[in-house]
Amino acid sequence: MARCPECAAMMEWNSKLKMVVCLSCGLTVTRTELDRMWKKIRETNFDESDNYEKKKSRKKDWLDWYSSSDKNK
Ligand SMILES: [Zn+2]
Repeated sequence: MARCPECAAMMEWNSKLKMVVCLSCGLTVTRTELDRMWKKIRETNFDESDNYEKKKSRKKDWLDWYSSSDKNK
């Protein structure tokens, strides 16, 4: 069963429309559109976590520098 990319509710296949309809917000998309939307969401989430990792390692570098400079005093 597909999930709505807008509100994460269950989506139902409508064979008359040949589209997937969200049972909660009423979003109506084709399977291809739905796949594309989910792909975009996954890519966005990946980018965010990637940036988060970069920020974390930058902070660690700074801490390493700070602690080593402290020892030199
Ligand atoms: Zn929805």
